[in-house]
Amino acid sequence: MLILTDMDDVLSDFDGEFYRKWNNVHPEKPITPPHERTKFYLSDESPEEYLELIRGIYTAPGFVKNLPEIPGGVQAIKEIAERGHTVFICTTPLNHYQNCVLEKYEWIEEHLGYEWTKKIILTKDKTLVQGDILIDDKPEITGAAKPVWEHIVFDKPYNRHTNHAKRMTWKNYKEILFKE
Ligand SMILES: [Mg+2]
Repeated sequence: MLILTDMDDVLSDFDGEFYRKWNNVHPEKPITPPHERTKFYLSDESPEEYLELIRGIYTAPGFVKNLPEIPGGVQAIKEIAERGHTVFICTTPLNHYQNCVLEKYEWIEEHLGYEWTKKIILTKDKTLVQGDILIDDKPEITGAAKPVWEHIVFDKPYNRHTNHAKRMTWKNYKEILFKE
């Protein structure tokens, strides 16, 4: 199989790190906690006056490069590749791309090794990318084309309202992807 996997909140813990930083820097400004999220973008359920502060955290130099791993993800995609499947990391850069594009490459090199940097597909439109499966936490993925991949949703509170046929984590991926 040709398997595409998202990066943020699937391999790297973007949201977790964001909340840690936010609570440190702005403890007096409460935002929707992770388990109460219903929207994919935190900015869609935060007060207007926080938006620039929110952006300031995740666009800061070093934020993306220093993201922790989502437990099990790095090991799982190596294992999937060792089974003979083709794996690409299909990831969307932030609109404020200045730090994030380079730092995504640096993150992949640090956590997966240099060879995996050749498996990065950076795109704002994942519907244009071919594959059998796309593992992604974004509930609805739309774009210019009709996707050829099957979207397997990576389980997060903000995507639990959707009706995806398949939902996975790095704990049950063998069962969901390989029926084991
Ligand atoms: Mg994601």
